[in-house]
Amino acid sequence: MDIKQTIQNLREELNLHNYNYYVLDNPTISDYEFDMKLKELQGLEYKHPEYFDANSPSQRVGGTITKNFQTIPHEYRMYSLDNSYSKVDLLDWEIKIQKVLGDVPLEYTCELKYDGASISITYENGELKRALTRGDGFQGDDVTNNVKTIRSIPLKLKGNFPEKFDVRGEIILPFAGFEKMNQELIEIGETPYSNPRNTASGSLKLQNSAEVSKRPLDCLLYFLVGTNLPFNSQFEGLDNARKWGFKVPKEAKLANNMQEVFEFVDYWDVHRHTLPYETDGVVVKVNQLQYQDELGYTAKSPRWAIAYKFKSEQVSTKLNSISYQVGRTGAITPVANLEPVQLAGTIVKRASLHNADQIEKLDIRVGDEVFVEKGGEIIPKIIAVDLTKRPENSQKTIYITHCPECQSELIRNEGEANHYCPNFYGCPPQIIGRIQHYISRKAMDIEGLGGETVALLYNNGLVQNYADLYDLRVEQILPLERMAQKSAENLVNGVEVSKNIPFERVLYALGIRFVGETVAKKLAKHYKNIDALSKATFMDLVLVDEIGERIAQSLIEFFENIENRIIIERLKGYGLQFEVVEVINLNATDKLLGKTLVVSGVFEQYSRDDLKKAIEDNGGKVGSSISAKTDYVVAGENMGPAKLEKAKKLNIPIISETEFMELIYEN
Ligand code: AMP
Ligand code: ZN
Repeated sequence: MDIKQTIQNLREELNLHNYNYYVLDNPTISDYEFDMKLKELQGLEYKHPEYFDANSPSQRVGGTITKNFQTIPHEYRMYSLDNSYSKVDLLDWEIKIQKVLGDVPLEYTCELKYDGASISITYENGELKRALTRGDGFQGDDVTNNVKTIRSIPLKLKGNFPEKFDVRGEIILPFAGFEKMNQELIEIGETPYSNPRNTASGSLKLQNSAEVSKRPLDCLLYFLVGTNLPFNSQFEGLDNARKWGFKVPKEAKLANNMQEVFEFVDYWDVHRHTLPYETDGVVVKVNQLQYQDELGYTAKSPRWAIAYKFKSEQVSTKLNSISYQVGRTGAITPVANLEPVQLAGTIVKRASLHNADQIEKLDIRVGDEVFVEKGGEIIPKIIAVDLTKRPENSQKTIYITHCPECQSELIRNEGEANHYCPNFYGCPPQIIGRIQHYISRKAMDIEGLGGETVALLYNNGLVQNYADLYDLRVEQILPLERMAQKSAENLVNGVEVSKNIPFERVLYALGIRFVGETVAKKLAKHYKNIDALSKATFMDLVLVDEIGERIAQSLIEFFENIENRIIIERLKGYGLQFEVVEVINLNATDKLLGKTLVVSGVFEQYSRDDLKKAIEDNGGKVGSSISAKTDYVVAGENMGPAKLEKAKKLNIPIISETEFMELIYEN
C-alpha cells in the first residue's frame, strides 16, 4: 500500500475511534492502542509534509497561538431566544403562532437548553472550515483553532451531508471535567472557577490552542442552517446531524401538542440533576420548517422558538453560625453552618461563603433566614438573605481578624479575595496540609504514608515539616496508635524511596503558592536546579514563558524565607533530587551522521542550545541558514515566515522538537 493510502486509512480509523469515544461514549480500543496509532500517523505526517491536512486527527492537540481573534460576519445571523417562565407563557406563545398560521397540525421539538457558550461551525464538502462565537449575533470571533481541539466535534463528516452549511451548538464543560479542573486549582492554592458556563466560554478565548486541548470541553449541537438542506423539520434535522457525526443529545423529543411539551418540561424539571452537564431550561421549537419560515423572526429572536426557564431550586433555612477554615496555603474560607434542609434530593448543612467580600455583599448575619440554591457545583450557594425575617437584635457580621487555629493576625494582599494566615511555620492546618501535599501522589508519592498518619505524626511531635520525615525511625513510629511493625517499616521505606523522585516533582512537592505541576515543570526545565532557581530575580522569573508576576513574587518570598532555605539544605543533605537529570546528551548516537539540521524559532521543552548540542551529539551538523543542503528544519514557535517559505519551496521537512526527539530515539 502506498504511503498516502496508509496515512488516509490511519486518519479515518482515528476519526472513527474519536467518534466512538467522544460522541457515542463507547470506545472500542484502549487509550494505549489509540495513542500508538496516533503516534504512527504523526510519524508519517512529519516524514511526508506533502500530505499535510489541517483536519487530520493529529491536529487535535492544538499548538497554534492566536493573539487577536479575528471578527468575521456570520453568513446567517445568530439570534437569541425569547424566554418564558410558566406554562401560561407557553400557551400564550402557541396562541400567537396560531394567529399567524391558522389551524394547522403543529408539532414541536423539545430540547434541553444547554448552558455554555454558543458556537456556529461552517462545514464545506464535509470538512470543518471555520468556527465563530456568537458575538453580537451579526459577527463573531474566529475561534476555529480552539474549536478543532474539542474531540466530539467532527473535523470530517460521515454519510450524505450537504455541500455547505452551518451547524449551531453549545460548547459546554460537563460537571465531571469542571470538578477535576477545580480540584487541581484548589490543590495549588488557586481560586477555583466559579461555574462551568463561564469556564467554557473563557476556554474558547484562550490564546494557546494546546491549552484548550487539555480542557475537557464538549459540544452539543441543536440546529442546522443553509440552503437546500435535505429535511423538512427540526427533528429530522437533528437526526441528520447525528448521522453526519455530530453529538446531538438523545433527550430531544417530538411533541404533537402543548400537553406533550408540558410533560417534557415537567420530566426534566425533576430529572435535570441526573444529567452530566448543566441545563437551565427547555427550548421548544415549531417542528415543521415550512411553518418556521412563515413565522419568521422578530428583531432579536425567532418567532418559532421559545425557551422555558426552570426555576432554580431554592429553599430557605436558618444560618446558625459561620466558621472559618484554614487551608494548606493559609487561605481562609468562611463556611455557613445551616439548619439542615432538604434541597434537590440531598440534605444541605453547609454552604461556602467564599470570602469577606461575599459576606459583606450579602450582609449575611448569624440568625438570618437565607435562600440556598443548588447550581452546577456540589457545594450549594447562598443567594440572598430574607430581610423580612431578620431578628431585631441581629448583629452585623464582623470578619475574623485572627487565625482561628493559631491566633496570628490575618493579612489580605491587595487585589486578592481571600484573607491569609501568615504563620506559615506555626499554624497547624498549614503545617499538616503542607506535609500532606508533599507526600501526595502527584508530588513525592510516598507509599506507606497517608494523610491521617501525617496528622498523627505531627500531633505526636514527630514531624514539624517535610524534612523531618527523613529523620523518622521505626522505633519512634511504633508506639503510635494502630501502628504495627510492618506498617512502620513500610513508612520509613517509602520515605527512603522518595529520594529518587525527579526534581520537577520535588519542586511541586515543596508546596510553593501558585506553583502547580505545570509551573514546576516549566521552572525545572528552565533553571535546571534549585540553586539557579532560588537566585533568580523577579525580572528573571517573569521572563520565563508562562511565569506571571504572581508566581514570581511567590517564589521570591519562598526563597527569601530562612526557614525554607534551611529545609531545602536539609533535603539536599538527605540526597533528594534538586537538579534536572539531562537525558538529552546521554544517548549519543550516529543517527544524524551526514545530516544538516537548521534550528529555528522558540521552543517549549528544550532550549535552542540544547537542541543544537543534541544534533551534534548524534552525529549531525548544525546549519546556520536554510539551503538545498539542509535535511531538516527543527521549527519552534514564531519561526520567521521567510524561512518557512524557503523550507517549503525546497521541500525540506519541517519538524517539531518532539518529532526531532523521536527522530533520535526511533529504532
Ligand atoms: P439566550 O442566550 O438566553 O438568548 O438563549 C439563547 C441561547 O441558548 C442560544 O444562543 C444558544 O446558545 C442557547 N441554547 C442552548 N440550548 C439550545 C437549544 N437546544 N436550542 C437553541 N438554543 C440553545
Ligand atoms: Zn494560622
